[in-house]
Order: sequence, then structure tokens, then C-alpha cells
Amino acid sequence: MSELVSARVRSAAGKLGLFHLAETIREYTRWADEGKLGFLDFLDLVLSEESEELAVRDDRRFRDDRRFRQGLRLSRLPHHKTLDEYDFAFQPALDPCKVKDLATLSFVGGKANAALLGPPGVGKTHIAVALAVAACRAGCSIYFTSFDGMVRNLKAAEAAGRLTDKLGAYLRPGVLVVGEVGYQPLERAEANLVFQVISQRYEKGSIILTSNRTFSEWGQVFGDEVLAAAILDRLLHHCEVISINGSSYRLKNCLKVIERDTGVV
Ligand code: ADP
Ligand code: MG
Repeated sequence: MSELVSARVRSAAGKLGLFHLAETIREYTRWADEGKLGFLDFLDLVLSEESEELAVRDDRRFRDDRRFRQGLRLSRLPHHKTLDEYDFAFQPALDPCKVKDLATLSFVGGKANAALLGPPGVGKTHIAVALAVAACRAGCSIYFTSFDGMVRNLKAAEAAGRLTDKLGAYLRPGVLVVGEVGYQPLERAEANLVFQVISQRYEKGSIILTSNRTFSEWGQVFGDEVLAAAILDRLLHHCEVISINGSSYRLKNCLKVIERDTGVV
């Protein structure tokens, strides 16, 4: 078969979505030559191989979709927003490339962490969720918890003598999303429980966290500078940090009204 014809067949097969045919055109023609196939038998061979390949691909896609939907259901994410729904123009100080780099999920492959910092309403949770949804799509197990909820659950489990079980829920997922670190200051025993999660996940699984506190304020959050330093040491060793300094998207429409009425924001 001439190069020109095989290139044309490959291109047409690609356009028709017959990617297997596009890749194996040479093999098909070899089989046809060796088996001295007639035109009809050749057509029969190509079409039955292709339909089998499509069925396998559909089945794989179906199983991947089911695993993705099941993963999302178990994740407890508050919503399933994506980066396509994030308006980067609203946060001009945020470099979209930094976020899109994170969305390649290489940090998840490297069991590293991501921290999204900034004031309320700038989209920290939106971006954290979008990254988690992408990780779930890529086959990773994910779990979302608020920081306070995690502390509360671990404390209750410890009191009930079931700490190891409960810790497992925060240690098993490939990606643990922890929302709103630092709303409430912790007692020492609570800070210790957080240390256990962070230190046991260190280099074993990723954490994506959101916080409106800077890392320098973590001493106050954990009520102990030494413990906060030990937690930060493990968390930040492999961590992409994104600070979003801008206005709250929640107040977007309010700001527009103020601007309209006063000419000032
Ligand atoms: P934060 O966690 O920083 O307090 P959220 O992620 O909860 O903020 O965002 C608050 C709401 O505003 C959510 O509904 C979120 O989807 C939306 N939002 C925030 N920033 C943007 C943005 N730049 N583009 C689109 N929606 C946004
Ligand atoms: Mg949030």
C-alpha cells in the first residue's frame, strides 16, 4: 500500500473516530496479504475488529464514568465546580497559569500538597474543589472535610476509643481536602490530633487546604508555636502555595451597586 493511500486511510479513520484502525492499518493489510483475503472478507475483518475495539473502549469509559461518579458521591465535596467556571478576570492578581499548573495534578502524583490562602469569597474553596474533581476524574480517591469538622470528629472518636479507625478516614484518600483552616483556635489536644493527620499523610498522600489565615498566624490557631512549626514543616516541605489577594466574589454584585451609586469602590 502506498504511503499516500495509507496516510489518507489513517486520516479518514481518525476523523471517523476509528483510532484503532488508524494505528493498525499496516497490520490489517499484512493480514489481508497473508490470508489472501477477498474484498468482502477484508471488510468483514476490519469492521469486526473495530467494533470489538469500540465495545472495549465504551466499556472502559463506562467503568471510568461509574468510578468517577461513585468517587464524587463518597467525597463529600460541597459542590462539583470546575476551573472552567472560575472567572480569572475577577482576580487579576491571581496568575491563572499557577492554578492551571496545579490542575495538571503533578503535585498529586508526587504526594505533595497545595494551599490556597486569602480572604473570604475569593474562590479558595472553588479552586480546591475543582482540583479535587479533576483528581477524582483521574482515578484518585478524594475526601472533603472542614478543618473544624475533622477536629470535632477526631476528638469524639478519641473519646470513644476509636481514634485509629477515624484517623483512617483522613489518611486513606489519595487527596484530602481540608477547608477553612483556622476559623477557631484549637486546644493543645486538638492540635495534636491535627499533627497526627498531617504527619501521617506526609509524603504518602496529598492535602489541599484552604485558609484565610497566613502561615505566620498558625501559632495562634494551634495555640502552640512549636507544634504549629512541626505541622508547617511537614505540610510545606512539598507544597504549592497560592495566595489570592482580591475582592470577594460573593460581594461582586454589591460592589457593582456601590460603584454605580457612588462612583467609588
Ligand atoms: P472562599 O473559599 O475563598 O471563601 P468560595 O470558593 O467559597 O470562596 O467562593 C464563594 C462563591 O463565589 C462560590 O459560589 C464560588 O463558586 C464563587 N466564586 C468565587 N470566586 C469566583 C470566580 N473568580 N469566578 C467564579 N465564581 C467564583
Ligand atoms: Mg472557603
